[in-house]
Amino acid sequence: MAAPGGPRPSNVPANYNPNSLADGVQNLQISRPTGPPTSAANSGVPSRPPPPFGQQPPPFSSSAPHSAPFTGTSPMVRPGPIPPGVLTRPAVPPSTHSQPSLPPNLASNRPSGPPPVTQPPPPFGSRPPPPGALPSAMSSSGGPPSAILLSGQVAPRGSRPSGTPFGSSPFITGPALPPGSIPHPVSNGPPAFAPGASQGGPHMPLAGSLPPPQGGPAAPATLFARAPPPAPNMGSLLGSPPSGAMPPGTMQAPPPFPAVPQGVRSSSPFVAAPQGALPPSGSPYGPQAWQMPPRQVAPPSAVPGAAQPPRMFGMPPPSQSMAAMSPAMGQMGASTIGSSKIDPNQIPRPITSSSVLLHETRQGNQANPPPPATSDYIVKDTGNCSPRFLRCTINQIPCTVDLLTTSGMQLALMVQPMALPNPSEEPIQVVDFGESGPVRCSRCKGYINPFMKFIDQGRRFICNLCGFTDETPRDYHCNLGPDGKRRDADERPELCRGTVEFVATKEYMVRDPMPAVFFFLIDVSMNAIQTGATAAACSAINQVIADLPEGPRTMVGVATFDSTIHFYNLKRALQQPLMLIVPDVNDVYTPLQSDVIVQLSECRQHLELLLESIPTMFQNNRTADSAFGAAVKAAFLAMKSTGGKVLVFQSVLPSVGTGALSSREADGRTNISAGEKEAHKLLQPADKTLKTMAIELAEYQVCVDVFVTTQSYVDIASISVIPRTTGGQVYYYYPFSALSDSAKLYNDLRWNVTRPQGFEAVMRVRCSQGIQVQEYFGNFCKRIPTDVDLPAIDCDKTIMVTLKHDDKLQDGSECAFQCALLYTTVYGQRRIRVSTLSLPCTSLLSNLFRTADLDTQFTCFLKQAASEVPSTPLLQVREQVTNLCINILHSYRKFCATVSSTGQLILPEALKLLPLYTLALLKSTGLRTDGRIDDRSFWINYVSSLSTPLAIPLVYPRMISIHDLDLKETERTPIPPVIPLSSEHVNDDGIYLLENGEDCLIYIGNSVDPDIIRQLFGISLVDDIPTQFVLQPYDNPLSKKLNDVVNEIRSQRCSYLRLKLCKKGDSSGMLFFSYMVEDKTPSGLSYVEFLVHIHRQIQSKMT
Ligand SMILES: [Zn+2]
Repeated sequence: MAAPGGPRPSNVPANYNPNSLADGVQNLQISRPTGPPTSAANSGVPSRPPPPFGQQPPPFSSSAPHSAPFTGTSPMVRPGPIPPGVLTRPAVPPSTHSQPSLPPNLASNRPSGPPPVTQPPPPFGSRPPPPGALPSAMSSSGGPPSAILLSGQVAPRGSRPSGTPFGSSPFITGPALPPGSIPHPVSNGPPAFAPGASQGGPHMPLAGSLPPPQGGPAAPATLFARAPPPAPNMGSLLGSPPSGAMPPGTMQAPPPFPAVPQGVRSSSPFVAAPQGALPPSGSPYGPQAWQMPPRQVAPPSAVPGAAQPPRMFGMPPPSQSMAAMSPAMGQMGASTIGSSKIDPNQIPRPITSSSVLLHETRQGNQANPPPPATSDYIVKDTGNCSPRFLRCTINQIPCTVDLLTTSGMQLALMVQPMALPNPSEEPIQVVDFGESGPVRCSRCKGYINPFMKFIDQGRRFICNLCGFTDETPRDYHCNLGPDGKRRDADERPELCRGTVEFVATKEYMVRDPMPAVFFFLIDVSMNAIQTGATAAACSAINQVIADLPEGPRTMVGVATFDSTIHFYNLKRALQQPLMLIVPDVNDVYTPLQSDVIVQLSECRQHLELLLESIPTMFQNNRTADSAFGAAVKAAFLAMKSTGGKVLVFQSVLPSVGTGALSSREADGRTNISAGEKEAHKLLQPADKTLKTMAIELAEYQVCVDVFVTTQSYVDIASISVIPRTTGGQVYYYYPFSALSDSAKLYNDLRWNVTRPQGFEAVMRVRCSQGIQVQEYFGNFCKRIPTDVDLPAIDCDKTIMVTLKHDDKLQDGSECAFQCALLYTTVYGQRRIRVSTLSLPCTSLLSNLFRTADLDTQFTCFLKQAASEVPSTPLLQVREQVTNLCINILHSYRKFCATVSSTGQLILPEALKLLPLYTLALLKSTGLRTDGRIDDRSFWINYVSSLSTPLAIPLVYPRMISIHDLDLKETERTPIPPVIPLSSEHVNDDGIYLLENGEDCLIYIGNSVDPDIIRQLFGISLVDDIPTQFVLQPYDNPLSKKLNDVVNEIRSQRCSYLRLKLCKKGDSSGMLFFSYMVEDKTPSGLSYVEFLVHIHRQIQSKMT
């Protein structure tokens, strides 16, 4: 694979693209829960006191945001746009007020609302309760019935119209009024590693703290988008006749990157592990039936309770499974076929856990199955990596392919290499092996990790991935202790931690690390101008500039486009930005390459002026055409020498120039009526033009994100090829409303540029002998089978890696997976983040069911289904999804359950929610036939890089009641317990909030107490609430709580959420009820009916 910039050094592992690496130092700093404030933030000056891990479990900020004094809007609500004048950047780096405990990677810029500045722990601050809290979930209603005895048909509980697709609702609400944002530096502080500190050799764990993000509250902002900012005097700019002939510029090499100041980090052992006791072990979970909830059993070589409902370590195991089962038994135990009595309150549903779990990745030299991905937990890395980084669909690996096939389950890893940690977790430690680079297996190139076995007095080591024996490098030799381990194992992060970050040597690059380049491309065609999309984009960019990384490494450029492309010379010497037009959109070139991308520090004022002027400059634009493809190509040419990020704001269907598209949706409708079989083709790219371009972009380390702010069809299926291939993503605002979407646009953009991220990355997953990677799924470019190229990678991106057997594994041995990500931080450091997960192998089917990871297993189904939809008739995909569920449950019923009655549907405890999630998936936007093509394309695209914790709510949203928020006492989180997604639980006198991580619906019943409506919305009559309302804080406890809840959700989801108001009786109400996945619909079964259906399918397979 030819890496841009030159050939790969011969000794570099094949999987590494020698380009530079970037980012995320901030990631390294994960936690400093109570870290002392520091002012070293931007200077990278040394010595930061070690994080106080010695204390008891890191104190969670009990000072959670919601307990803060009500100040109007919640403190961190991402502000809506700020009026132009307010945007001046502070002359000094932001105050350190919020730094002390803000973990760098948790940037305070997390979309929603971090805590008040004076309160230490940030975004997550409000989440974890004191680690002593008991899991209230254990007894909650969704509880442990591990099996359901089902029989007979159930009368449908009433049907609801299947609503309209989410996006089509005309009701849009505006963002909460933003508190303003004080411009502050980027959350990614410069690295804090002292150059000298890491030179002592490999042994020095350099954990430390990076300068925390300077989050800071956003300045009070006014709701933006009411009017475009006044245009500054741009006379000369506007007046200069755009000339078609641009002076060809010469390419200038990017300025060298000055060494980043570094600080000393000291690592502190994580001492707080008070609750690590394992539950008593019991008898192996054998083939017996559900009566044995897995979690109580800790078979000798097995992992204790995987994928179980949240529990606290150290807690006694739940008494007996039968007790836990009783509710179900009571209802359905005496199942007789034909009984139509099934109480919907007794069937499995997700549990709300209000406690935070402490998860040690290994205990007693065994892998410890992780808590559910959707639960709240704190990880202590004791050898295996955090499940946030690598999570397997099954926590024991089947020894043979036959065993896996029999189980019906999928074997795959969800890899999220830069996942956000919980702030209470220990930072990832950085290890510097000096010039020799990290120790690696000479055969498979696997990296040194805690599972490599040293032998022969430490002189040699055996690779846990390929089994090869290597000589230990002389300067890495260490004697073994009586336990056979190296005596220094506990002091070397790479020998005792599942995740470490190695400093990359010159061998891992062919050029200097690339600068952080941000190029903004703005659609100024007639429609974009008239809908306010251009103004919203310019305002968002203008505000976000203040959040870009400081320093000479940060470069920016701006171009606008309609049927031509307009670059702007931002050189300081020029009095005002000069517009340079590229008229040929079929054979694009870029003018003045050296002047259209400039160091941010040199052009900040010009840039702000320009962004304020653009909406006015084009206010009378009558050009309807948009040259999206050509504009991306032109931006690419301008940044070809460096690589970087292109952020495109697109409002209409690209209609001219390279990659022009046609409105095939209209044609598609005809085709659909002609035959369902061809319908899915509209979900495929129109042609290969954009794909070809995207591959070229990826080769030059250019990542593209597209913000689609539209009111019409734009062919997302075609457009999305570019972000998907370059490690980017699509943001979708449909139907775009300048009033309600501007704040989300700003928040999305801000999170995009400030979240932990890296550039010019290459990733590879290695597996132990016997297992190999089958396929990678996600947003990347793949040029060789073993690696994925990621022009950019960030904390939100997840890559699914499916696995296959190529040999038998030994029962009782362990199988390891190692993910290595080579990347460049935004500060120009080259790093290799290595995460290793070692899991036990088993030849028992019951172990697979016991340790199945529901969330991950289901996310795997979801991603596979999403990738199938564009190429397979929908009915077939739906059938495949249903069969996956049936096959797993059938296998369990046939081989593991001992219950004799055929009238019983028996669900493995760990997978008891599989039918519910499967049903919800069948009713989701992507798998329904009634959705708009673009809505479905967006869904498919969104799923492709989605993390496990966000995949579940996308399919099975969270619903809570909000009319009674002030009556509920919640200790740790402002979010009350969830309500099942059934219309039976939605009352006419209630108000409900439903969110799926992207959208948030607020439904108002038709007989709600007017006083409650007034408290929440400022108006008493439902009919008087405007369809596009803005969630505002009012001076009463109920309103305050609602704002707290919304902000907490935004923080958890790292998304601002599109708020929509839904009223009973109109289309918005129907939209809301379309999310009641447990209801019967004209085209779908109710939950109970679906269970009956599944049960019958299993019965028929049994006979
Ligand atoms: Zn090896």
